[in-house]
Formats: sequence, structure tokens, C-alpha cells
Amino acid sequence: MPDGSIPLCWPKASYDPKYDPIVDAGPGHNRDFAPTYWVGTAGPAPEDDGPITADCEADVVVIGSGYTGLSTAIHLAKDHGLQPLVLEANSVAWGCSTRNGGQAQISSGRLKRSQWIKRWGVDVARAMHDEVTEAFRLFEDLIASEEIDCDPQPGGHYYIAHRDKVMAGLRRECEVLNQTFGYGAKILSREELHAEHVKDQEAAGALWEPDGTCIHAAKLAFGYVRMARRLGARIHTASPVMGWREQGGWHYLRTPGGTVKTRTVAVATAGYTPVGLHKRTKHRLMPILSNSMVTRVLTPSELEACGIQVTSPLTDTRTLRHYYRLLPDNRMQIGSRSAVTGRDAENDKHLALLRRGLARKFPALEGIGLDYSWWGWVDVSHDMMPRICQPDRESRIFYAMGYGGNGVMYSAQAGRRMAQQIAGEKTPVLPIFNSPLPSHGLLTPFRRLGQRMAYGWYYLKDEII
Ligand SMILES: Cc1cc2nc3c(=O)[nH]c(=O)nc-3n(C[C@H](O)[C@H](O)[C@H](O)COP(=O)(O)OP(=O)(O)OC[C@H]3O[C@@H](n4cnc5c(N)ncnc54)[C@H](O)[C@@H]3O)c2cc1C
Repeated sequence: MPDGSIPLCWPKASYDPKYDPIVDAGPGHNRDFAPTYWVGTAGPAPEDDGPITADCEADVVVIGSGYTGLSTAIHLAKDHGLQPLVLEANSVAWGCSTRNGGQAQISSGRLKRSQWIKRWGVDVARAMHDEVTEAFRLFEDLIASEEIDCDPQPGGHYYIAHRDKVMAGLRRECEVLNQTFGYGAKILSREELHAEHVKDQEAAGALWEPDGTCIHAAKLAFGYVRMARRLGARIHTASPVMGWREQGGWHYLRTPGGTVKTRTVAVATAGYTPVGLHKRTKHRLMPILSNSMVTRVLTPSELEACGIQVTSPLTDTRTLRHYYRLLPDNRMQIGSRSAVTGRDAENDKHLALLRRGLARKFPALEGIGLDYSWWGWVDVSHDMMPRICQPDRESRIFYAMGYGGNGVMYSAQAGRRMAQQIAGEKTPVLPIFNSPLPSHGLLTPFRRLGQRMAYGWYYLKDEII
């Protein structure tokens, strides 16, 4: 510490519910966690290395301490013998990694298998399927370890048809999954779903995928922190990168407590990436607000009325989908789209939309008391798929981001892949590794206008037409 005594992390700044990555300069400095169910029930966050308090040097600097940054640090240390230093603006895993729905599905990005085939052809789509299958196995091994004790709730993913007319599309997708990828997906009728799985009242049926697990989001993140530090990574919280200079092959990252010098930077800032962080990440992602709420504990009669016999991930087929699940303590969690801007995030109408969504599925829960409600910024890329890459061969900058709300599972593998790239190992020849995130280009100033228009269109498409 520069003066030998006062850590820079006290007092903590309060959580800012209106934070908006497109408008604000950065995610803050030493802010408290969002008031999520996960943070409320995980127990205290594990120890970290506190803020940077003097100029220093590191093998590799990872910016952002969410799942991606922590997985990168774990694999750099474990597989490649490097000593990474993680810089986090606020508390550990302060962004989406302590705010999500805790649903791990066998995907990366927002596109379905049929859309992969359309975009890249069957061979690349098959190779992508192998990649996410490997990722899911890595994730399963991680959450089975004692160090990462995150209350796994396996049982597969239920993709629930919110209207009769989407069943034909689900049947086609099931065929593609099974015939082209040799997967074991199944179609469930409304009657089967209600009798043996869940009595979602608007469901017309479902597509069931065998891979799908719910986890406790903050326990997963805190387990990652413990594992990364045991392996030799340093995790410095309350250390936002506020300036970035490159000179002679070195990167100088300025934080409030000192500048960190390194040859290699791994960026893992997802939807919280400040516009001014670096030209390589500028306007490459569209941050979209997603919200989540958790009810009080359901009574036995409410549980019976909901007929919910599964605790693994449930999502519906709306373009702006609802994701929902029964938590181990018999609370119900549901989330979906939220406000367009951070300034509007606290508007009650967004919570009302979520409450309506819950009541349509489970009428017995209409008006139920809530114990938690929160929101966070999801990193949506222009082409709906993530990238894990070195965008410019001339500069040792790497990034992994753009999961579009599907990063709980795949971020574990993305961190592993980014660590391989940093160590000079080859990653599979796939579009998510071999090209940078596409820019929003001339559309950049109109993104929010476009988002509002798209929300109107999606509503019509999902509910009316
Ligand atoms: C409400 C909600 C529900 C979701 N539900 C699901 C789900 O059910 N399933 C699923 O797969 N995905 C879900 N997601 C998405 C998932 O949470 C993310 O894909 C995943 O957590 C991304 O992790 P990450 O490490 O890449 O980014 P994050 O966890 O967002 O971490 C980025 C970190 O970077 C830090 N940072 C930013 N700028 C700087 C800087 N200049 N200096 C230092 N640090 C900086 C931030 O403070 C932040 O902690 C959800 C997201 C939200 C918001």
C-alpha cells in the first residue's frame, strides 16, 4: 500500500441501479453488488487481493472478474504455468456473473442449430456442436468439484412452446438436432409436459434437450475466485482500468491505485465494457438490459398448482424469452427483457411485465410477494454469436465476449480457449475464434432506436400475429 496502511477499497460505493454502459464512462469504482438472490444467499464473498496500490507488472492482465475472466485466469495458471493478474472495477464477479438466471444450456450465443447450418453450412455447424458439447462437459466437471459448490440442478433444458403455432418449428429443430447432430432431443406434448414435468398453463408442448443444469450463480463465481487464487492468480478488486497506453509492445493499464504493465491483455468485460476502454472493443457489442425476480417461498398448495416436478432450466419460445426455474428453497425465479436505458431500469412497468409473464404460466402465482428483483447488462453481438480471439495480430490483446445472454456455461470454455490463444496454442478452426466481433458501423448511433422498434415488432410476432 502506498502509505502502508489504508486500503483503497473502503468505504464501498453504493450500488448504482441506473448504470448504463452506453452513456456512463465505466462501471464504477468499488461499487457494491446488485441486490440479487444470489448475493443474498451465497454467504460472504471469498477473500481477494484488494485494490492495486502501486505500479506493478504481470505476465498477463485479465480485465473483468466475471466467469470469463476467472476461467481465463484459472486456465492460464493451471494449463500454461502463467501468473495472471485480474483487474476488477468493483467487487468480484460484480457484473452479469452474480446477476443471471443460473441456467446452463448447451449453446453459445443466441443462434439455434438450424441457424448455424444456414449461416456456415453443415460441416462448420457440426464442428460448433462438438465445441459446445466439449464446453458442457468441461462445465459439468467444474461444477462437480468440491471447490465449486454451486448447488447444481441437472435434468435437461425445456424449451417451452408459448403458443401452439410455434410447435411446428420446435419439431423441425428437434429433427435437425437429432438427425444432423446425433443429439438426443425429444418433443413433449402439452399433456406429457403437464403430467410429468411442469404445468406451465400457456405451454403448447416443449422441446427437451438432455443437457441443461441450473446452478447458484454467485456460488459458481465465488468458487471460481477460490480456485483461481489457489492456482496463483491475483484478483484485484476496486481497480477499474481507466486508461490504456501501448508502447513498444507493452500495455500500461491505469487504475486509481497504480499502473499495471504487461505484454498481454485479456479483455473479459462483456456487457459492462466501457465505450472508451480500447478501440478494438469499441461499439462491438450492444448492451441489453435483462431483469430477474425471485418470489417468496411457495406454499405446498402453490407448488401443487404449478405442478413443477423439475428444477432444471425452463425457457419459452418468445423472441424476448422468459427464463424460469424452481430454486432449491422452493422460490420461483423468472426473468426476461427489461428497459432500454439504465435511467429507465427502475420503472415499475418492467417488473409488471415480468409478473404478468409469471402469472400467465402459473395463474396460482398471480400477485405473489417478491423477495428479490434486479437487472444486468447482457452482451449481445451484432451477429448474435460470441468471439474469443486476438483481433489484431500486431498487438497482444485478446477478448472473449458476446454470448448474448447465454454465457453461464460457455464462458468456462471461452476462458479456456482464450488462455490457449494467449499461450500460443491453436484453437479449432471456427468462426467464433477466427474473426473479430463485427462492428455496428453506421448503425451505432441508432442502436437504441432500433432496439425500441424491434421490441414492438417482437411483441406483435410473439403475442398477436
Ligand atoms: C439478468 C440476467 C440473466 C441472465 N441469465 C442467464 C442464464 O440463465 N443463462 C446464461 O447462460 N446466461 C445468462 N445471462 C448472461 C450471463 O450472466 C453472462 O453471459 C455471463 O455472466 C458473462 O460473464 P462475463 O464474465 O463474460 O461478464 P460479466 O460477469 O458481466 O463480468 C464483466 C466484469 O467486467 C468488469 N469491468 C468492466 N469494465 C471494467 C474496467 N474498465 N476495469 C475493470 N473491470 C471492468 C465489470 O465490473 C464486470 O464485473 C444473464 C444475464 C443477466 C444480466
